[in-house]
Amino acid sequence: MTQASSDVLILGSGIVGMATLIAIDKYDIEAALLSEAKTIHKKEIDPRFYAITPGVKTWLEKNGVWTFLPKKEVSSVRSIIVYSDKEHSSLKFNADDAEMNELAFIVNHDELEKAFIHRIRKISYEEIKTNKVESLSAGVKEINLSYANDNVRQFKLAIGADGTNSWVRSQSSIHFRYKDFDQTAIVFNIKISRAHQGSAYQKFMYHGILALLPIYTHEFSVVFSLNSQMIKEYESFTDDKFIQMLKNVIGEMFGDISLTTKRQYFPLNMKINKSLISDRVLLVGDAAHQVHPLAGQGLNLGLRDVIELDELLSSNKKYHHDLGLKSFLKKYNRNRKTDILSVSYLTDQLSYLFSSKNHIVDFVINFGLNKINQNQLIKKILIKKAIH
Ligand SMILES: Cc1cc2nc3c(=O)[nH]c(=O)nc-3n(C[C@H](O)[C@H](O)[C@H](O)COP(=O)(O)OP(=O)(O)OC[C@H]3O[C@@H](n4cnc5c(N)ncnc54)[C@H](O)[C@@H]3O)c2cc1C
Repeated sequence: MTQASSDVLILGSGIVGMATLIAIDKYDIEAALLSEAKTIHKKEIDPRFYAITPGVKTWLEKNGVWTFLPKKEVSSVRSIIVYSDKEHSSLKFNADDAEMNELAFIVNHDELEKAFIHRIRKISYEEIKTNKVESLSAGVKEINLSYANDNVRQFKLAIGADGTNSWVRSQSSIHFRYKDFDQTAIVFNIKISRAHQGSAYQKFMYHGILALLPIYTHEFSVVFSLNSQMIKEYESFTDDKFIQMLKNVIGEMFGDISLTTKRQYFPLNMKINKSLISDRVLLVGDAAHQVHPLAGQGLNLGLRDVIELDELLSSNKKYHHDLGLKSFLKKYNRNRKTDILSVSYLTDQLSYLFSSKNHIVDFVINFGLNKINQNQLIKKILIKKAIH
């Protein structure tokens, strides 16, 4: 049965899907948000903390999301220290170097998701809940969604915000390049006895990458990415043994260390889509790109997709009547390309370079990190690139 329809279907109600709804709502475009009809019992607490860039934070402020985050749940990053186990190379970025107060803001996944849920309650939109999406087929003037035993709906555009295994992407035959990093991220929190003073740390090692994101005053959210050989070993450790191994990696600089959460595991891979669009289809968030978490950019990239949509809609009213127009889709695809490819390439290459056992590569890394560290201008340029 075909029913009357909204202008746009957003498929997937994760953080990026909800952000898309907020962006579109500003232009009086009718939207339907389709989410999975899951059981009420929520999954386990999500251990991920995101390092939100100042540019993305500004959008979240302007669009009424940030205000729903309790102040005590947001921690500031004032410096980032990158170092490796390859001799004595290190690189320090200070907020002052870029005449800023903060380089990033650390927020827990569940807190951010709650803030979005509060914000979208102010929006009038159609909610579709189903576990049974059946097909998407694009015509000249519309795209048809069939779900839950032949309910059919028509939209001008379908936006896939349905994460890394995107159903929208597969229905639209958008191809992607896949790379298995052969690594798994262990995510957990630790308490430390010496205050971190708002510094984030990233240590590159042959067998993995350790990222310490400062939360509260005496805690870090840790993302420890290890290759598959090491992960088996670490998985078998008791908490005591695990902390002992971690101390060997981190050293003494934070005093005593204790584990405050469970360890959770995320296999890591990269997906680069050949295109972000197809006929009357557009992808955002992890449906559009999946990157290594080493630079803390995955969600930022997804929210920048939404910021781009917002900017295109505010720049040209013509698009408001038909978001499925080829000119709109092509512009979005073109404008997002550089950001997505540069983050994908950078994270892929960093993870490869630092896991190399080649002495020439070691020398270049040491030399490069130390040289960059001495050059204020290059540091300023790198920071400006990283915070948008
Ligand atoms: C260990 C780790 C650490 C990370 N750290 C950072 C960080 O510091 N900073 C950062 O920016 N990013 C980080 N990321 C990346 C970040 O987690 C993701 O980029 C982000 O969560 C993607 O959000 P999304 O809304 O696009 O996708 P998702 O969160 O996957 O949401 C997709 C939504 O679509 C729904 N869905 C899927 N299929 C269907 C369907 N068929 N029908 C209906 N609904 C469907 C799902 O239920 C879900 O609600 C990290 C990732 C990992 C693994």
